[in-house]
Formats: sequence, C-alpha cells, structure tokens
Amino acid sequence: MDEEPERAKRWEGGYERTWEVLKEDETGSLKATVEDIVFKAKRKRVFESYGKVRLGMMRHMFVVIDTSRTMEDQDLKPNRLTSTLKLMEYFVDEYFDQNPISQIGIITTRNKRAEKLTDLAGNPKKHISAFKKAVDTPCAGEPSLYNSLNLAMQTLKHMPGHTSREVLVIFSSLTTCDPANIYELIKTLKGLKIRVSVIGLSAEVHVCTILTRETGGTYHVILDESHFRELLTFHVKPPPASSSSECSLIRMGFPQHTIASVSDQDSKPSFSMSHLDSNGGPGLTLGGYYCPQCRAKYTELPVECKVCGLTLVSAPHLARSFHHLFPMDAFQEMPLEDVQGERFCQACQGELKDKSVYACPVCSSTFCVECDLFIHDTLHCCPCCIHNQTAP
Ligand SMILES: [Zn+2]
Ligand SMILES: [Zn+2]
Ligand SMILES: [Zn+2]
Repeated sequence: MDEEPERAKRWEGGYERTWEVLKEDETGSLKATVEDIVFKAKRKRVFESYGKVRLGMMRHMFVVIDTSRTMEDQDLKPNRLTSTLKLMEYFVDEYFDQNPISQIGIITTRNKRAEKLTDLAGNPKKHISAFKKAVDTPCAGEPSLYNSLNLAMQTLKHMPGHTSREVLVIFSSLTTCDPANIYELIKTLKGLKIRVSVIGLSAEVHVCTILTRETGGTYHVILDESHFRELLTFHVKPPPASSSSECSLIRMGFPQHTIASVSDQDSKPSFSMSHLDSNGGPGLTLGGYYCPQCRAKYTELPVECKVCGLTLVSAPHLARSFHHLFPMDAFQEMPLEDVQGERFCQACQGELKDKSVYACPVCSSTFCVECDLFIHDTLHCCPCCIHNQTAP
C-alpha cells in the first residue's frame, strides 16, 4: 500500500505546479494568474458533470474539521478556523439544496482526540448553529486523523448499502497523532466502501495522498480562500455510485402541509416530533406535515419519521435531485472573433469582452463565462432553449 503510484509525484505533475504558472503582471501582482487557475477549475467542474452515470443520490457524509493549533494561522482571514467555518455554512446550505434527501454530520479533531459536533442529520439549521458556536472553540494541540476516521466509520458502516458513504476532511496540520496503524484503518475503510476526500489547507501530506487514492476520494490543497470555496463546491455534487453499490427501492412519504382551520372549535395546537430533540423555539403549532403512515407531525421536511422510519420529503425536493441524473450538456467554448452579429451575452445582456464565449449546442446562443457557470450550477437549463420552446 505504501508503494509510490505509477503517476509522477504531485509536485512533478503539470497542473499542480502552480508556482510556475504564476506570472507577475505589469503592476507586479499575481492576482490575475491565480484568478485564471480558479477559473480553469470552475470550467473543469462544468465539464466533469457531463455524462450519464449512476450517482449516489442518498448521501451520508461526515465532514472532519481540523481544529488543531495550526487553525489559528492567519493566512486565511481572519484566521483559518473562522474562514473555514464560514465556508462550511455555505457548503452545508448548498449541500442540502443539491442533495435534499441526504444527511451530513460534523466531527472536529484537536488535542489528539476526535469528537462529534453534530450527528448525521438532514437539517441544515442544526449544523449551521453548531458552526456559529464552534467559532469560539480554542484551537489546540495536534489533530488525529485516525481517531476522526474511526469515529466517522463507526456510524457510516451502519448506513444502508444503496447510500453513498463519504468523509470529507478539512486538514490544516502537517502532522497527525494516531494511536494505531492508520494503513490498517485505510484498508478497513476501503472494505466498507467509505470514500474519503481531503482538502488540505497547508501542503500535501503523504498519508492523505494514500488515504484518498485507496478509498477513491479526491485530494486538493487550497491556493487561497476563493479556491477553497471552489473545492468545497466540488463536493456539493453527488459522486458517481460505485458499480458494486446496491440498488434498492425506497419507500417515501409525501405529506402535504395542512393547517387546522382557526374557526374549527376542535382544533388544538400540537407539538411537532422534531421538537423532541431540540430545546429552542415555540413547540406548539396549528399546522404541519403529517406522516401518511403514522400521522406523526413535523414542521419541516425532509425528515425521517421518528415513529415509523418512513422518509418524508416534498415533491419539489425530489424534483431538485432530478437534474443530477440528466445533466445539461456543457457549452462549447469558442473564440470571440467567431461570434456573428452583436456581441452580447444572451443571458445578462452584458457585452462579451473575454477572449472566449460559450455557446449552447442546441440553440447556439452565446453566453459569457459567468452566465455559463450560473446556468450549469443553478438553473440547469438553457434560458434561450426554454424561451424558444414557449414562444408561439
Ligand atoms: Zn411515520
Ligand atoms: Zn452573461
Ligand atoms: Zn440553448
């Protein structure tokens, strides 16, 4: 397992030799080239989403956040921890927007220990409030990769076979303090089909390279904060399902929101099941979503019924997952000179100034790069194609 891979070392490879790509512009600033790298990464993401592959739509992901002493470094502003937690709030929001029937859990590691900040759950609010509280945690000691992965594994191994089991590690330290042989643990993770990806905040660490290679994950080291955000966005999209993962039909309930009418004499406010484990907020409400199987009441969807275990979602939630299965074709990049007629982006109406523009392969409308990304990441359909369809 410790053998070097066939490919050249990361620091000998082409794309990652960022210091050679970096060139100063007239004013001596490196900003333009860094932006160029980030830009290329963005476009790459659009291309990678193309293709009809089976995806792991029900995801169970643990995010391991390093809260060791190195998180106090101030290369990210104001420091690594604050910056990471802010980006994680964004990540969790996006994750649940794109993966409405998935769950996420947070683990932090410092002082050679790992502890769960939040358990696997489908409610973004809970995680985000945990991040807000975690900003004040003192960063101390060394992280433990072994303990964190072990903790995540204890929960993930019980997840059903048709769901994807994932761990995303935000690793700031260059060292890890492990109580046992981590290579044995990597073998176990591989056996359990747990996919581990790492985002490094400092530099490449050998054990992470092996960890991600063996478990089929990805490993990236950030360049700056916007690149960090870009790398996180990469993990928002559902990963391809491994060919060995099981297929299964899943029972789901689609409860409708009902409000007992105020004029009805018999209607009384009632507690929602989701308030069982939360202590904040008003508990009694008139309306809610009722589980079609056992009539338990919930105020929010998606949720797994605490009484009968049925997955309750709303139809729009499922519809939002749909576009992952039938992704849009990537737009064709073409030089600006080839554009016939007026050089305006068909979406934002801005003048096309960049050296390349992006054309829809169906309706051949041209777009600027920002609109291209927005269309592929958010809209998931070409506005000009839709416009042509609805025109009389
Ligand atoms: Zn139920
Ligand atoms: Zn545009
Ligand atoms: Zn089109």
